[in-house]
Amino acid sequence: MSTAAGSRYDQNAVDTFKADAARHTRSRTAAQKRTVRRSAVQLPLGLAADTRQVGSAMNLLPYDLIVICSSAGKDSLALLAYVAKLIRQQKYRGRVVVLHNTLGVTRSGAPVEWWGVEAAVREHAAACGFEVVVRSRHDGLWGLLLGPRRKWPGNNARWCTSDLKSGPSMTWITEAVTEFWNQLGVPADRPVEVLYCLGLRGEESSGRAAQPIASVNERHSSGNRRITRWLPLRDWTIQDVWDEIKEAGLRPHAGYRWGLSRLSCSLCVLASLEDLMLAAALRPALAADYRWAELELGRPFTERLSMAMILAGLDAAWAEAAGDTAAAVDAAVVLYELVRDYLASTAVARGEGQTASGRPRTPWTEQHLVGRATARTSEILAAGRRAVALAAEADTSVWMLEPLDEQAAADLAGAAR
Ligand code: SF4
Repeated sequence: MSTAAGSRYDQNAVDTFKADAARHTRSRTAAQKRTVRRSAVQLPLGLAADTRQVGSAMNLLPYDLIVICSSAGKDSLALLAYVAKLIRQQKYRGRVVVLHNTLGVTRSGAPVEWWGVEAAVREHAAACGFEVVVRSRHDGLWGLLLGPRRKWPGNNARWCTSDLKSGPSMTWITEAVTEFWNQLGVPADRPVEVLYCLGLRGEESSGRAAQPIASVNERHSSGNRRITRWLPLRDWTIQDVWDEIKEAGLRPHAGYRWGLSRLSCSLCVLASLEDLMLAAALRPALAADYRWAELELGRPFTERLSMAMILAGLDAAWAEAAGDTAAAVDAAVVLYELVRDYLASTAVARGEGQTASGRPRTPWTEQHLVGRATARTSEILAAGRRAVALAAEADTSVWMLEPLDEQAAADLAGAAR
C-alpha cells in the first residue's frame, strides 16, 4: 500500500505515524527473535502452611456440598486458597469440588483459553486435596458463536458465561444433588445445601461491587436443593489476592508474568486493549481465527475494537521492531482507516440523539473526526508496541510460575494496578 498516493486521509495523521514509527523502529534483538515454544507443565507442589488469620468467616459446616468455581486465574486461585484454609480451620468433612468449565477450540483447533489452564486447575485442586470436575459443552464457544448465537458476546450479552459456565455448572450441581440422595438411600426431607463459591471482586466493576457477598440463588434452588452464591473476595484488593496465593504456596499461571492482567479466554471480549494486543501477539493463529469469524459474521469482535484493528496495530509494531519504517507506516495507515471508518459510523459522530444534558447532538466536524481517529490509532499503536516487546520477552515454554515470594507477589500486584 502506498501511504502517499493511496491514503484518503489527513496528511497530518500520516505524518504523525511516520514520526512515531521512526522513533520506535529499531533493530530486532536476540530476545525478540526468540522462537515461542510450549512444553509440558511442571510438576505440582504441595500447599504451604496457612499463616493468615480468618475473622468472622462463613460457617461452612451446614453445607452438604462446596463448589469452588475456577478458571485458573488469580482470583479463582485466591478463592481456592481462602476456602481451603477455612475448610481446614473448621474441619469441614463434606464434599468439596473444584469446578472448571472449558470453552473448546476454534476452527483451526486452537484452544479458546490460554495454554495449560485446565492443567493448572487440576494442579491447584490436587495441591489442596480436592476433587476436580471439568465440564464442557459439546459445541463450545466457537460452535455457539458461529451456530445459534451468530454474534459476539459483550458486556450486555454475556452469553459466553451463561451458556458455557453458569449453565453447565448448574447442570452438574443437579447431577451431584441426585447422587447425594441416591448414596444416602433415604428420601429427601430437606434441600441439599450447596455453597457455590465464585472469585468475583468488586474492584473489577461497579456491578460486581454491588453484588451481595452471600445470597441464595433463588432461580436455581428448588425443593431438593438450596444454592448459596458466595463471593468472599468481593471486597479484596489485588494485593490481597496475590498475598493469599503467596501464603498458600500455590503456583499461578505464567500468563501473569508474560504481562497479562487476566486469564481464561485468550481473546476475551471484555479484556483491556493491552491484554488483547498481547494475546494476539502471543497467539497469532488464534487471532487469525477470530479475524476470520469477524468476516464470517460481518460483525467486529467488540464494538470499539475489531480484530482487524488489533492485527493492523500489531503489524505496525512488528514492522517497527524489525526496523522497517515504511511497512510500519503503511500498517499504521491501515489501522487509522479502520478506526476512522468505525468512528464515523457511530451515532455520536453523525450527530444523532441527545447529549447527557438533553440537548440535540451536532455532527462531528472533519477536523474533530481526524483528531479522534488519530488519537485512538496512537493508543492502539502504543498497546501494540508494548505487546510486541512483552511477547518477545515472554517465556511461553513454561506455563506455571514457581510459588511466589514477597517480592514476586508485590510485583504482580503492582503490575496489575
Ligand atoms: S473470558 Fe471473556 S469471552 Fe471468555 S467466557 Fe469469560 S467473559 Fe466470555
